[in-house]
Amino acid sequence: MSSKITKVKGIYDILGKEAKAFSLIEETFFKLTKLFGYERVFLPILEREELFVRSVGDTTDIVEKEMYTFEDKGKRKVALRPEGTAGAVRAYIENQVFLSESYTKWSYFGEMFRYENPQAGRRRQFYQAGCEYFNAPLPTADGELIYLASWILKELRVNAELYINNIGCEKCRPRYKAYLIDYLFSKKEKLCSDCQKRLERNPLRVLDCKNPTCRDIVEEAPNILDFLCEECKDHFEKLKEILDILKIPYKVDPFLVRGLDYYTKTVFEFKVNSLGAQNTVLAGGRYDNLIKELGGPDIPALGFAMGVDRVALCILNLLEDKREGVIILPFEEKYIPFALKVFKLLSEATNILEKIEEEIDTKKFLFVKNLMENEKLRNFMIEVRNRIELPNKLGKIKKLFNLADKKNFAYAIVIGEEEVEKNFITIKNLETREQFNLPLNMLEV
Ligand code: ATP
Ligand code: MG
Repeated sequence: MSSKITKVKGIYDILGKEAKAFSLIEETFFKLTKLFGYERVFLPILEREELFVRSVGDTTDIVEKEMYTFEDKGKRKVALRPEGTAGAVRAYIENQVFLSESYTKWSYFGEMFRYENPQAGRRRQFYQAGCEYFNAPLPTADGELIYLASWILKELRVNAELYINNIGCEKCRPRYKAYLIDYLFSKKEKLCSDCQKRLERNPLRVLDCKNPTCRDIVEEAPNILDFLCEECKDHFEKLKEILDILKIPYKVDPFLVRGLDYYTKTVFEFKVNSLGAQNTVLAGGRYDNLIKELGGPDIPALGFAMGVDRVALCILNLLEDKREGVIILPFEEKYIPFALKVFKLLSEATNILEKIEEEIDTKKFLFVKNLMENEKLRNFMIEVRNRIELPNKLGKIKKLFNLADKKNFAYAIVIGEEEVEKNFITIKNLETREQFNLPLNMLEV
């Protein structure tokens, strides 16, 4: 046998139950973002490296240590995207979307890459579902965005706590930074080695360090909220009022900063207690200067990204193995032509069910009506709509039923001598083991 090729470290196949969780997350995310006016966009995974250096920031962990960068055959320096906002902003500017739209709401779902230490909830290829809201200066936009995020998590039955902060703007943050640096320098020896470096290059990141000694030092550090300018203070007060009106519980965490440099004013995170160290499932904030800094006009914006892999971890045990759908089981090979006819009739009938409203007085409708008036047949037809499959193996009927059970079908259609002769099917409810018949002429219109 040839040797096996394994996957790359930190990169995973999403299969089985996890894939189900991913699909549910994607579906829920797009259902609710659409409700709030977001349009789905499809953005490149590969961008110029410079985009992330200039937006995420050259002193952030992401850019300093975690980016997958390489030179393409045309000698361009490119990177696999570590996050979605930078690319969205690039696309917004490059396509001059701001000229034709007064404000813009985009949603996306896709893979991100960061060369981190793989552990529970931390992967090198992971997935984010994200939203960007361009040209929205009012705090109502922050409130609406947070409301949307909390609704998505609630709908997915993820129990998360919201933390908010305001990290100021280019007017007030420098003064805070100066005070913070002074304070941190006085504690320099006690800080972890990473934070000693951060102190020089990106002091705000010290506030975010997970090291227990650093955390103690941070507790006594100057508080950004005492340094906010009038505009930022007002924005924060209004946001809190909005969250109160929308009845969204939150905690203010003055030491909440994010690992990306582009944020201004509002930042927020949703955390889940049960997840251990990697407990942030959704994070975001305002980035009022980013569009300008990337060469676009002066347009305020905000957004969030949800960590799909982590949300999937939260909901895995909530996903039930529900019986669903119908499998057709002919006893022998000679019944396969009849099985194919049944398959075609039933799958087409689902099409007609979809059109029930439009074709209300046609002959087709009458047969559907007959079907749907019988409770047993109605439940069966609902499952036909969920899934209908042909057999791909022949064998003893007991073995076939076992297979149907293992694949979690709700019903099996049994086809034997009598069924073919008299043109009907026997339907077996695999849960209750109850059987009933359906004459095929009810489907033939
Ligand atoms: P963390 O501090 O947890 O690393 P972050 O500040 O780096 O998060 P963001 O860049 O804001 O995270 O990304 C938003 C969300 O994406 C995170 O809250 C998390 O749920 C998810 N995420 C980030 N990095 C990873 C990763 N390496 N593996 C899995 N999910 C991730
Ligand atoms: Mg990180």
